[in-house]
Amino acid sequence: MCKSSRNNRFKLKIINKSALIRLGVIITAFLIISIWGYWTMFWMPKQSYQGQLPPLKPEEIILHKSLQEDLQKLAVEIGSRNNNQYSKLNQAKDFFINSLSQAGYKINQQEYKIDNKSYYNIEAEKKGTTKPEEIIIIGGHYDSAFTSPGANDNGTGAAATLELAKIFANKNTNRTIKFVEFTNEEPPFFWTENMGSLVYAKNLKQQNQKIVAMLSLETMGYFSDQPGSQEYPYPINLIYPNKGNFISFIGNMKSSQLVKKSIGSFRNHVKFPSQGTALPSFIPGVGWSDQWSFWQQGYPGIMVTDTAPYRYQYYHTIDDTINKIDFDKFTRVVNGLVNVISDLAT
Ligand SMILES: [Zn+2]
Repeated sequence: MCKSSRNNRFKLKIINKSALIRLGVIITAFLIISIWGYWTMFWMPKQSYQGQLPPLKPEEIILHKSLQEDLQKLAVEIGSRNNNQYSKLNQAKDFFINSLSQAGYKINQQEYKIDNKSYYNIEAEKKGTTKPEEIIIIGGHYDSAFTSPGANDNGTGAAATLELAKIFANKNTNRTIKFVEFTNEEPPFFWTENMGSLVYAKNLKQQNQKIVAMLSLETMGYFSDQPGSQEYPYPINLIYPNKGNFISFIGNMKSSQLVKKSIGSFRNHVKFPSQGTALPSFIPGVGWSDQWSFWQQGYPGIMVTDTAPYRYQYYHTIDDTINKIDFDKFTRVVNGLVNVISDLAT
């Protein structure tokens, strides 16, 4: 072997070795990022409940009746409520003010104007005992889209917010809880500066309030056991079940810990199917409600939902009516949230 060919082999060995090291680094980085991504976005504590649902507990039978009465008021007596049905929007607002006042709350009305018309977010506050400066927000929007009577979107979330406020009126918690009925979540205000929850969240930020968790209760009363009844944006459909019989907890990636904590608490206490995920907020559907407004202010927030248009064919239509609501399952979800909120507020 001549000297130059020995040199070449030596060079080749060095190149091979450094290429292998580089490849190893790339594969390790890829694995670490994949594991971190999976853990952040998809890994959830405990398992989703499967099996027969137990009979309703006595407190759930009472809650069932109250939720039905709320939906009767919002989606049947009042019906479509938004900037085009302005007097109806105000009827819904007054219903929440009266109901929360009767539960013993002093109401804060946050008024703001669009085209000389006043709009209101309605807040009922339960002060915390030992950590009152740490705040949990429980909120749902009470307006409906277009001509929709808005039974599911979002009569359910607004009614759930009201009934949870009533349940917590006589409970002591360490942290403060603010129950908020938001206005103007739907078009034309969706994701604009006139969206009720954005006006509200901006104000909290200006006052330097410490929000440790926000739960957006959004379209949560429709369930189906039919295979194929659940859709997802691609590629989420590769991971989750195709039966729309569960309640979901959805956050952005920054709210991953809040998603895990909330669904873990729900699964600890409730025999009801549940799925959770913390996804990048650009994925369609992830930011489609009031939690988005809190993300804009840097606060952690999640949405509790039946996934709305990914399951509910009557979404934003005139057929979003009270007879589509599964009150039995809706009640189980709301009662389960009592435990979640208690855990978050402790
Ligand atoms: Zn909605």
